[in-house]
Amino acid sequence: MAISGRRATVIDGKALAAELRVDLAKRVAALKANHGLTPTLAVFLVGDDPASAIYVRNKGAAAAAAGIRVIDVKLPATTSEADLLARIGVMNGDPAVNGILIQLPLPKPIAAEAVIAALDPAKDVDGLHPENIGRLATGRDGMVPCTPQGCLILLERTLGTLDGRRALVVGRSNLVGRPVAQLLLRANCTVTIAHSRTRDLAAECRRAEIVVAAIGKPAFVRGDWIGPGATVIDVGINRVTGPDGRDRIVGDVAFAEAVEVAGAITPVPGGVGPMTIACLLESTYEATWRQSRLRLDR
Ligand code: NAP
Repeated sequence: MAISGRRATVIDGKALAAELRVDLAKRVAALKANHGLTPTLAVFLVGDDPASAIYVRNKGAAAAAAGIRVIDVKLPATTSEADLLARIGVMNGDPAVNGILIQLPLPKPIAAEAVIAALDPAKDVDGLHPENIGRLATGRDGMVPCTPQGCLILLERTLGTLDGRRALVVGRSNLVGRPVAQLLLRANCTVTIAHSRTRDLAAECRRAEIVVAAIGKPAFVRGDWIGPGATVIDVGINRVTGPDGRDRIVGDVAFAEAVEVAGAITPVPGGVGPMTIACLLESTYEATWRQSRLRLDR
């Protein structure tokens, strides 16, 4: 850990994600050459939320660059839940499709829970199916949510072993906070989960050697909440309008303050975000490999 009083190391998630994607592209090429298999990811985008459209485009481009085939399923906001479930059923049953991603949020009145529960857990590359959540919670292998997995890789690359470290996760959503806490526990951290009802969040933060902020509030975690030398992973993606009238993306941590105190910190953008995509691609590869092995073993 860095010495107190020195500026933190800025953790370059973009560079690490690029490195992981180059390595993955080699393994995908080998899978094709040696087994004739092309990992294939079906991406469902329902409705016309502009942010979701950008995320889907970025994921598709990254997948293509790694040699993963993407099947884009773009559906209008008027799509019924029954129609969506039927289409997921087709992808579940298609052996050429290895992973299925449902871009969230889904337009109302479609119930995201029902849609996620309809996924074949073996193709659930986002790790949100109850079976995969249960596997993670009970320490068994399964598909792990991509953003939390990205946070863990960043922490392990920064700190080495996480054994015995005091970690605080701020946020308890099913998408980020809870699975991050499970992964930290699996890595033998002593984990505290904070949320909107936590008393004295600043004091909880100061005690932690690792702070993972997944709140959704711009610059909410202040620099003087961070213990000297702590490692800070900022998951937040918040669009704010700057004094120049331009929109920009900031995290949940007041970066300029925290960077003066922390030992290491992820920037926003360029920290967790790129790792999420790298982990999605890795999940698709792993799902392909696992499914093909099952077929070969039969
Ligand atoms: P969410 O579902 O809205 O959950 C936010 C969590 O923050 C909740 O558990 C909430 O507590 C907690 N919280 C809210 N106000 C708080 C406060 N004043 N003090 C302490 N805790 C508070 O959001 P999410 O889906 O987890 O996402 C969190 C952030 O990560 C968002 O900015 C999102 O855009 C970003 N994100 C980034 C990526 C990426 O790839 N980088 C991926 C996913 C999400 P309660 O449970 O008590 O309400």
